[in-house]
Amino acid sequence: MRVLVILCCVFSSALSRELFTGDQVLRITADSDAQVALLWQKYEQQDLKYSIGVQVNTDKYLLQLHVWRGPPRGSREFSVHVPFSSLQPVKTFLEARGIQYEVMIPNVQALLDEEKADMDRARQRERDTGSFDYASYHTLEEIYAWMDSLVAENPDLVSKMMIGLSYEKRPIYVLKFSTGVDRLAIWLDTGIHANEWISPATGIWTAKKASNSVMDPHLVTEYGQDPSVTTLLNKMDIFFELVVNPDGYAFTHSSNRLWRKTRSINAGSDCVGVDPNRNWDANFGGPGSSSNPCSGTYHGPFPHSESEVRSITDFIIAHANFKAMITIHSFSQMLMYPYGHSSTPVPNADELHALAKRAVDALERVHGTKYTYGSIISTIYPASGTTTDWGYASGLRYSFTFELRDTGRYGFLLPANQILPTAQETWPALLTLMEHVRDHPY
Ligand SMILES: [Zn+2]
Repeated sequence: MRVLVILCCVFSSALSRELFTGDQVLRITADSDAQVALLWQKYEQQDLKYSIGVQVNTDKYLLQLHVWRGPPRGSREFSVHVPFSSLQPVKTFLEARGIQYEVMIPNVQALLDEEKADMDRARQRERDTGSFDYASYHTLEEIYAWMDSLVAENPDLVSKMMIGLSYEKRPIYVLKFSTGVDRLAIWLDTGIHANEWISPATGIWTAKKASNSVMDPHLVTEYGQDPSVTTLLNKMDIFFELVVNPDGYAFTHSSNRLWRKTRSINAGSDCVGVDPNRNWDANFGGPGSSSNPCSGTYHGPFPHSESEVRSITDFIIAHANFKAMITIHSFSQMLMYPYGHSSTPVPNADELHALAKRAVDALERVHGTKYTYGSIISTIYPASGTTTDWGYASGLRYSFTFELRDTGRYGFLLPANQILPTAQETWPALLTLMEHVRDHPY
């Protein structure tokens, strides 16, 4: 009987998505640095699947917490996803200490149900890159099929390259935008963190926009920006990886919408996956990364242990003409440059700072969305082993991280009706960066 029960549960969990019924996302605002330290300490004490044991009154509760984001520099706000079963004890814990909180998402599952219904509606009308619904989220299969359509529709501009295989043996593709040979190159990627769906959604729109702009160089957007990337592509190639972490992304659709990491098995641990943005060979294992395989920021057993990361490093090293690396995450509304692991300014920090300012100004002009900017460590928090630090250390003097919308209202669950405005505003910021690289390559 017991075996039957276990089998039944394994079977059903393989087929079904994790439900988040009644789970809430809280914005917790500590009112002193000491409180921030207390919450961080609780967070870092987690040892199993984000569980933390918290003593509330005399009862021992095992609380499940998922910290979506710790407080960025200059802030005391935590975004925390609390499963329904832990909700009351967590609120009791916070209230007992006078820690302020606000319910941002009252029922996580209700939001996921809306998102899923929207995807199902979009799927029924899509046939090619023209009828593709850019205002909806898509599965990995749909994105891969869309990439093939884009290539088929723009054979002289876009080609698809396979640069490796994921841990679960999914192909890892890069779209190459090119109008000539022997060009300098810019690397762009989206979707390294699986749950940040706005990132690849913005990437898809951006890739389509870039191909449209070249096909019709006189096209002018409603915002008065000349979107043409023709002059850019006269000098440079753009390599664009839309889904850096395909296993994780597929898992967010099949099993757990909030999954962040890769899906590699960790030796000696029941916890799966590595944070692919802590796995790069740039102060690997340093501050802002975890050695605990159960942590969301687990750096992995060694640098580039993840094939998803190694595929990129091998590719970039083999193509010595890369001048820039831009990686796109969510959420927080930030544009950042190196370093994440050190507060020592990079040699061209002044140039990167001025460029970031111009990019976020261009972004804000579209829909009024405000971004903060600066080095990673001075803008969000310390992070080691990141894409951006590795890019810089590898000689790419223009290395940037975007954190797209929002600032925590919806966090990783940004509603699909914000995809288009997010992509539209990100576009002039990307153009600002890329045009600067074109005009000042070194
Ligand atoms: Zn991220």
